Amino acid sequence: MVSVTEATQIIQSIRLSVNTVHLNLLEATGRVLAEDIPADQDFPPFHRVTMDGIAIHHQLFRKDHPFAIEGTQPAGLPRKKLNNLNNCLEVMTGAILPEGVDTVIRYEDVHIENGTALIKLEHLKPGMNIHTQGADAKKGMTLLIKGQRLTPAEIAVLASVGKANVLVYDSPRIAVVSSGDELVEITEQPEAHQVRRSNVYSLRAAIQDSGWRSDSHHLPDKKELVVEKLKTLLDHYDLMVLSGGVSQGKFDFIPETLTELGVTRLFHKVSQRPGKPFWFGHTPGKNVVFALPGNPVSTFLCFYRYIKPWIARQMGLQPPYSSAVLATDFEFQPELTYFLQVSVRHENGELIAYPIPGGGSGDFVNLKDADGFLELPPSQALFKAGEVYPYIPFR
Ligand code: AMP
Ligand code: MG
Repeated sequence: MVSVTEATQIIQSIRLSVNTVHLNLLEATGRVLAEDIPADQDFPPFHRVTMDGIAIHHQLFRKDHPFAIEGTQPAGLPRKKLNNLNNCLEVMTGAILPEGVDTVIRYEDVHIENGTALIKLEHLKPGMNIHTQGADAKKGMTLLIKGQRLTPAEIAVLASVGKANVLVYDSPRIAVVSSGDELVEITEQPEAHQVRRSNVYSLRAAIQDSGWRSDSHHLPDKKELVVEKLKTLLDHYDLMVLSGGVSQGKFDFIPETLTELGVTRLFHKVSQRPGKPFWFGHTPGKNVVFALPGNPVSTFLCFYRYIKPWIARQMGLQPPYSSAVLATDFEFQPELTYFLQVSVRHENGELIAYPIPGGGSGDFVNLKDADGFLELPPSQALFKAGEVYPYIPFR
């Protein structure tokens, strides 16, 4: 048995080489960027008109003075010029600002009659209604950095700089594997002695949320079938995340089978609750295997506490550390790290963690009310309100 700290160190020392791949922009949504993205031009690329109206030179402004309209500058046409500075040009949103003018007055503040514009404003702010060239970013400036997750906002930036294809971290070949004869597919109606194999879905969703893709497999509780199937999976996948079959049960064949198939065990059992029977190993240069206890909260906790930060590190990212203040006293006697299900609130600039009543290790329906786990160290049994502990968010 190892401590939570030791388990963390062992896991972090194991690397999986991750390739990069060019993907079409839309396919890249949700992936992690593997290149820095510079601005290929100024943003905006020209002095851009932001209102439909007229443009003049501000020094010639006078209220209710007639400006003859010399022409129109629509969006998408090359830059025109105001020849006589006593006149004005009509300008449209999105157009380049014409030469000779520096201020735009919106139609709402103008009265136009017989080819002449009268400005109804008392005062005018020079340069108004113009988004100046380079105001948002100068050409060459880094807009996105390697390691950023691509959400629709980043996709917008990539599209603006013309990145139709973008370099992202490729997903290793990942198998998420459930185990147990009591499990049925989620589309089935379980019989009295059965449950749906929900862990596969929580794990695959969590992996997808980290920017990687996975396949799903299942192992029955029969030794020969476990051997046969695991052998094939180990040949086909770089990363395996199993759930179930790692405890002391008569049908928990997974740890012994993994070692029989040549996977080096790096630890089995972590002094924690939930998730004590956690098994971890690797075949150097071939695969990494996380075998998690099947209890749905254990599986969930182990993913967020160990696997998610590990995935981040494989893509060169420093996983964020977070902490929260315990809101009420809490007692836990056994000499194990306890991962307490909490909901959190920001109060006076602090993150306050409220224990979820009944959030024991098996009750995963409570997870929908929780925001994360507070990590309570094994050295204490009494945890006082106001004390600060590491916080593992899953929202
Ligand atoms: P095990 O770790 O195989 O002893 O399983 C512990 C508990 O978790 C049992 O109640 C299992 O039925 C349940 N369990 C195991 N795998 C899953 C799964 N994929 N989805 C939901 N529950 C599971
Ligand atoms: Mg089982």
